[in-house]
Amino acid sequence: MENTCLFCRILSGEIPATVVHRTETTLAFRDIDPKAPSHVLVIPVAHHANVIELAADPAAAADVLATAAKVAELEGLTDGFRVIFNTGEHGGQEVHHVHAHVVGGAPLGPMLA
Ligand code: C5P
Repeated sequence: MENTCLFCRILSGEIPATVVHRTETTLAFRDIDPKAPSHVLVIPVAHHANVIELAADPAAAADVLATAAKVAELEGLTDGFRVIFNTGEHGGQEVHHVHAHVVGGAPLGPMLA
């Protein structure tokens, strides 16, 4: 838990979010500014800044991917979806608690803007 981290504060309940699914090690909640009909963020409970740090914690990485798959099932994304980890400045990462964007519900085109 990092007091200044926005997503740690969502995990603690200090900042509200619309929860889609929760496990002991992950939380999935709706993106506040959805870019697709279904847009859910999946985060590990353990604070890792980005996907590079997450990759160094294979159990947490596996849990995040399993939760992303569960979200796709719960959201009914049977025609496909996209899982995105924005990373660093060029990747457009704004929140430095690693999160998988799970987006779908409509054709997404060649890339998500
Ligand atoms: O990958 P990136 O860091 O840019 O994404 C952060 C995401 O967190 C944004 O899509 C933003 O809409 C979302 N967000 C949120 N709830 C907040 C603050 C940001 O869903 N309270």
